[in-house]
Amino acid sequence: MNMVGREPAEMEKDIKSRYVLTSKDYEEALKQGKLIGLKCKDCGSVTCPPMIVCQRCSSINVVPTELSGKGELMTYTVIRIPPEGYEAPYIVCLAKTDEGPWIVGRLDYDVEKMSEEVLGRSVKIKGVFAYSDKYSGGEHVCPVFSIL
Ligand SMILES: [Zn+2]
Repeated sequence: MNMVGREPAEMEKDIKSRYVLTSKDYEEALKQGKLIGLKCKDCGSVTCPPMIVCQRCSSINVVPTELSGKGELMTYTVIRIPPEGYEAPYIVCLAKTDEGPWIVGRLDYDVEKMSEEVLGRSVKIKGVFAYSDKYSGGEHVCPVFSIL
């Protein structure tokens, strides 16, 4: 039976061709100390981590761009009971980058000294945290922020 539309393999190839920056590219750059996102040539906004389209206007007219790795600490949570395979305690944070996108990462800070007073402080990516568990599909990295 002939299906209407395109073949799945053709669609998959088309979707893959639209990734100008893959998650793997993003993580490899992070390992080298670079935060890479996508700059939209239509609306000017930055998308990070990478997606197929601009996070703001859905345009596919995007190009890789390097971000400063600096931002503002928006919120955090202290993990005291970790998922399987992780050591606790540690801090997961959400930082708003200077270029706009909000990024999840870990925060390198004394867990016992964490308080709401750190919210709004300037942060910078200082490295990566590598993880590999049975749910992640291989090794991945996320940014580690430090408070400036
Ligand atoms: Zn856009």
